[in-house]
Amino acid sequence: MKVKNNIEIFPWGHERRFNAYSNYFRNIYGARVQKVSIDAGFGCPNRDGLKGFGGCTYCNNDAFNPSYCQPSRSVSEQIGEGIKFHKWRYDEAVSYLAYFQAYSNTYAPLETLKKLYEEALRYRGVVGLIIGTRPDCIDDEKLEYLKELTSRCYVAVEYGIESCYDKTLVRINRGHSFEDAVSALEKTEALGITTGAHFIFGLPGETREEMLNQVDIISGLPIRTVKFHQLQIIKGTGMEIEFKNNPGDFELFTWEEYLDFFVSFLERLNPAIVVERFTGEAPPRFLTGEGWGKKRTDQIVNLIEKRLEELNTWQGKLYEDKK
Ligand code: SF4
Repeated sequence: MKVKNNIEIFPWGHERRFNAYSNYFRNIYGARVQKVSIDAGFGCPNRDGLKGFGGCTYCNNDAFNPSYCQPSRSVSEQIGEGIKFHKWRYDEAVSYLAYFQAYSNTYAPLETLKKLYEEALRYRGVVGLIIGTRPDCIDDEKLEYLKELTSRCYVAVEYGIESCYDKTLVRINRGHSFEDAVSALEKTEALGITTGAHFIFGLPGETREEMLNQVDIISGLPIRTVKFHQLQIIKGTGMEIEFKNNPGDFELFTWEEYLDFFVSFLERLNPAIVVERFTGEAPPRFLTGEGWGKKRTDQIVNLIEKRLEELNTWQGKLYEDKK
């Protein structure tokens, strides 16, 4: 850590105590960049039988899809709506990243993907793509195309990994192994494409210690950006039924517990990994139970940053590079 004009500057070049996603983009583009979500009407191989049926037990895409995302609208229309939506909230955004978010956004023939991605990139102000998908839903041909795109714009592939433990992946019916995730990340990173990952804390069958200990595994993965969130039981999912039948199998975090847990996790996390999200927030109408009540995501982020300051700690303070 350095001190500049009496302000502590952390290894990622700013005073926030974690390697924050918003600052990462400010460093690349010199301004705020806003993600605009798209539901391009992709399916999911874990629902249609190619990998499995019924999908992951926690999954209900409607709970996370912004209202302006309608697969019946074209990619351009959705981007236009998304830009309007975000302009109302944030006046400052000048550049946009098209975020192919819903379902598995590489699950189509390459020609179809090209058409959709290129349409997004033609939209004025769009400077890159973020493509959310499954680790077993990518191949060399698609990766080669994405590699070509990196010479024109920012391209990130964000893989849903959810847990480092195969026993958990089986239990939540993910339909792929942790090794599949590692392999996809390695191939993607080797081609110079930005890698993202998503994990959930609180999945059934994992102890808090196991959840925390994943930090050493995650820290060693070729991940550039990461999102974490606490498990929320969403209505209409297989997990809702499981939860009702066996509530004792679940150790859902209260927000106070999550605060302690996440600070411990961050202290051990590789400081080179950019953290996009600490928590998730499904609209209350989708939640089974009360969730965290009125506690909003931005409040939790503020509380975590405050706690980091009180403890004079930061992302990676206890990280040990084991390579
Ligand atoms: S979480 Fe993703 S992979 Fe799992 S069922 Fe939902 S869309 Fe498919």
